[in-house]
Amino acid sequence: MDQHAFRTAVQHNLRQEWASLARFSQSRGMPYITNLHDLSGSPAFQHCDTASLLRNASAPTALERTDGDWRAAAPVLAQPLAAPVPALAAAFTELVWPSRNAVSTRAKNWTMWATAVTWGVARNATHLLFPMSTVTLKALTMDLMGLHTPRSVILAVWSAVQNRHRSAGLPAPIRGTNEFTTWTRLLASLQGAPRPLIHPVHKTMVQRLLAWRPTSLADNRDRLATCLATICCLRVAELRALRACHLLFDFHCSYGIPGYEGTLALHIVKRKNDSERKGHYPAVGRSARPDLDLVHQLRVWLCVLGIGAHPLCASRAGVQCHTCPPIFPRFVLGSGSTHHASAAPMSSQMVRDAVRRMAAHCGGDPSHFSGISARKGGLTTAISAGVPEEIVYLQSGHGQTRAARAYMHLQDPALLFATYQAFGL
Ligand SMILES: [Zn+2]
Repeated sequence: MDQHAFRTAVQHNLRQEWASLARFSQSRGMPYITNLHDLSGSPAFQHCDTASLLRNASAPTALERTDGDWRAAAPVLAQPLAAPVPALAAAFTELVWPSRNAVSTRAKNWTMWATAVTWGVARNATHLLFPMSTVTLKALTMDLMGLHTPRSVILAVWSAVQNRHRSAGLPAPIRGTNEFTTWTRLLASLQGAPRPLIHPVHKTMVQRLLAWRPTSLADNRDRLATCLATICCLRVAELRALRACHLLFDFHCSYGIPGYEGTLALHIVKRKNDSERKGHYPAVGRSARPDLDLVHQLRVWLCVLGIGAHPLCASRAGVQCHTCPPIFPRFVLGSGSTHHASAAPMSSQMVRDAVRRMAAHCGGDPSHFSGISARKGGLTTAISAGVPEEIVYLQSGHGQTRAARAYMHLQDPALLFATYQAFGL
């Protein structure tokens, strides 16, 4: 069986007009139908509960669209007093329950589930899909492998299937502690070419980039973004989300202890695994050498871009800001072939390219660098300088939240600068 035969089988089983309606993905390995919602009437699904089989919860819920602003979401959340208990529970399942997973995770899970559903159509096995038995999952995996589906996709299909069962409160096809890990081991030999080693951004690179004075706007942006992301152990998404109001200059002066003038705290509004939604405040200190002072250079950068916090900024309410301009924007070509900042932040791809270009500028091999090199570099620098793990956590927010960390408050902000000091600036 090849991809073509697979698609033909799917179209044959969808029958008549449904066959011509189906759109297929262009992905490697097993193709999937991208418009399943148009095909729920097909005879292929006649013995299925299509409402649960084809339910797609990947769109952001009302609560997610307002980003935790209860007042804005209240009209949607409020249920009539006469509503029976099952209706309340159904409203909860629809409006709140999807947030068990991040929107991006849900979108990916849906694509992977669509792969399983498409396979069910091809094999005349749609009635076996949900709930799915271990036997069915084995059969599905056999075809995924037969169509040379990449290992990462097979794993993603498995976790989407598992996830779908768990969120419906059904037993998942892979059961038992550590059983999923054992399954993943089965695919170890499917790895193919080993993945390239990704290096962390080294502290000497940060020093070199801070001393560099490029003339182009893009070089300047990429240089500052790489340094800030490394020192603050930022994930790519966190770097991209930074806006003018998230640079809190002289923030640590608020402790009332002298010596923190000229320092900076970043406000990371939403960090992965931040279940308490406290945000995170990595710190950047004042450099001993004026030419390597990142805080000062960021101030200058805001002036160059001509940006600052917007008067209508909502971030004080703890809500993700969409009003203020991004600190590291995309540049667009304006009149007279000059570049100017757009309202959109750099894309993930642009962040990766920025880190690679900066690595190349310092004499590194760009193919061994990626967006995550910055965060890796911050963590590596702090840990190799002997900064204790729970102190590095204040900068990076890494790992699963432990109770003690959530309650940890520093009397003196000095420890917050431990990771910054590891860079020897
Ligand atoms: Zn703002």
